[in-house]
Amino acid sequence: MNAYDVIVVGGGGAGMAAAIEAADAGARVALIEADTRLGGSTSLSGGVYYAADTSVQRARGINDSVDAMFQYYMTLNQYRVNAALARTLSEHAGQGLEWLISMGVRFPAELLYASGVENVPRGHAAAGQGSEIAEVLDREVSRRDIDVVLATRVTSLDVRDGAVCGVRLGDEVISTGAVVIATGGFGANPHLLHRYYPEAALQADKAWYIGSSHCVGDGLMLGEQAGAEIVGLNRGLLLTTPNFRKELEVYVPGWLMYVNREGRRFVNETVEYAVMSGVVRAQTGGSCFAVFDSDALESAVPDSRYTDAFAAGAISLNWVRDELLAQIQTGKVLQGQTLGALERMCGIRPESLQATVAEYNRDVEGGADRAFFKPHDQMKPVATAPFYAVEIFPAIVCLTSTGLRIDTCTRVYNAANEVIPGLFAAGETTGDVLGERYIGGGNSIANAVVFGRIAGAEAASLSLAGG
Ligand SMILES: Cc1cc2nc3c(=O)[nH]c(=O)nc-3n(C[C@H](O)[C@H](O)[C@H](O)COP(=O)(O)OP(=O)(O)OC[C@H]3O[C@@H](n4cnc5c(N)ncnc54)[C@H](O)[C@@H]3O)c2cc1C
Repeated sequence: MNAYDVIVVGGGGAGMAAAIEAADAGARVALIEADTRLGGSTSLSGGVYYAADTSVQRARGINDSVDAMFQYYMTLNQYRVNAALARTLSEHAGQGLEWLISMGVRFPAELLYASGVENVPRGHAAAGQGSEIAEVLDREVSRRDIDVVLATRVTSLDVRDGAVCGVRLGDEVISTGAVVIATGGFGANPHLLHRYYPEAALQADKAWYIGSSHCVGDGLMLGEQAGAEIVGLNRGLLLTTPNFRKELEVYVPGWLMYVNREGRRFVNETVEYAVMSGVVRAQTGGSCFAVFDSDALESAVPDSRYTDAFAAGAISLNWVRDELLAQIQTGKVLQGQTLGALERMCGIRPESLQATVAEYNRDVEGGADRAFFKPHDQMKPVATAPFYAVEIFPAIVCLTSTGLRIDTCTRVYNAANEVIPGLFAAGETTGDVLGERYIGGGNSIANAVVFGRIAGAEAASLSLAGG
């Protein structure tokens, strides 16, 4: 007899959801976690959960549907994502949210917001951010007869005749009917970023990862040992940064004017972060410059609209006078007495900035941004010397979404399109669920919870059926 029916590797959102569902299905479950506590990146997160047709939306009088979410998901991703997985995520995200609520996670209706570019708000923010989601799941794990093994990193599976039969911990093999890989992403592994997320690696020393240091891509390595195919190459979520410090500033002040190396504006500077990093990345050189003048610098004060999401609720101190002056010394804020001088310092096409700035200033004066329709109250003229520019990089690695190929039952596949018997995967370790476009805040936690639950139930079902 196997030691366990189901072994779950990784105890973040996906792994805890899998362990709970497997235990509720009657399986004997072990949950093995590399860290000294459960939670993973899920516990560090903002705790936003993306879903349609939920009780929270209805409490706000919002009508929404699974079809609308699915269409939005596929359109934003230009159909370059596994449609069956996107459909499953759209269909089950609402149930996953209600499941979390039933266990005690608070998603207040007043915190519901449009976290992407959707027409109706689908970003459900947990009152206590990601730590509340993780703590509630942890509590539910401990209420069940689940063997939790902490501070233990699984580095090898026991594979026999192509089927996964257990995990190896040193010389010891723990046998099981099914393994669920839920080890999160690989943002903390520079080597794998190079291999699977070259766009992030492009930023070299400017790139930094905000998730759990244990998320080193072990799931991809474990899956590959069993022959799994890796899909969804070069995908994840990068956020933009002026690279002043390791701060997670999700939104930047609207008064900044962004230009590319051609000296042209290319975006409404206040667009959603889910969109901004991709737009910046698409510019020549993969970065852009935030331009402003000395009046804007002198009046730049801490603004509660722009928070450091990494330091829960703290106001971002990037775009305030003293910081900007200090960053002139580091060379990260460039200062020019004329726009022409600024162009030369930035390597912007000569004699381009003046025309762009003149048009921008006309729009500020005229009361409407005719180029990109940025809200007028967030615009400031660029008129008083000296002028300033800060290079903006899409360099904060928030999550990765290249990973193991799964089907809607979370079974893992090899490159020959065959199911690897006994192997399931869920969450950030899987590929082709999240696409090239992050659909909005909550995409990844919904992915972890929805497919984690499915993985637990399916793994238990396979194992209890003896096969
Ligand atoms: C600061 C921040 C804010 C974010 N905000 C949001 C948000 O608001 N909404 C959203 O949808 N997404 C957000 N994300 C992304 C989201 O949190 C993650 O993508 C998601 O929670 C991943 O869940 P997971 O269960 O797949 O992985 P994780 O929660 O990272 O769990 C993986 C677990 O596996 C463990 N592990 C790894 N390797 C091994 C091994 N070999 N053996 C045993 N255990 C192992 C890790 O220690 C970890 O505990 C945010 C991320 C960060 C870092």
